[in-house]
Amino acid sequence: MSDCLFCKIIDKKIPAKIELDEKNLLAIHDINPQAPTHILVIPKVHIAKIDEIEKNQAALAGELIDAARRIAKLKNISDYRLVFNNGAGAGQSVFHIHLHLLGGRPMHWPPG
Ligand code: AMP
Ligand code: ZN
Repeated sequence: MSDCLFCKIIDKKIPAKIELDEKNLLAIHDINPQAPTHILVIPKVHIAKIDEIEKNQAALAGELIDAARRIAKLKNISDYRLVFNNGAGAGQSVFHIHLHLLGGRPMHWPPG
C-alpha cells in the first residue's frame, strides 16, 4: 500500500532500525519505545488490522508470535509482553498489523 508507513519501511523507502528481516516479516525498533526493549514485528503483506486477517492467513499471527519469542530469547528477556492493538479505540495508530514486543522492565496489569 503506497501510503502506509510500515509498507514504506518494508520497502526500505523509510529507514528504521531493523532487528530481523525474514521472508514474511520485518522486526524493527519502535521509534517511541515504551520499555527498554520495544520491537514491532510486522508482516510484509499489508493487512490493516487483526480483524481483517483472512482465514487462510491465520498462520501469519503465529509466525509473528514466533518471531517475537525468538527475538526475546536472543536478548535474554524471559518476561515480556506481546500486544496487538486492534482499532483506534484500542490504541492502534498505524493501520498495518504489528505485534509489539515489550520487555526489560516490570509490566503492570491492567494496562492503560
Ligand atoms: P500502534 O499504536 O499499536 O498502532 O503502534 C504503532 C507504533 O509504531 C507506535 O508504538 C509508534 O511509536 C511506532 N512508530 C510510528 N512510526 C514509527 C517509525 N517510523 N519507526 C518505528 N516505529 C514507529
Ligand atoms: Zn502497509
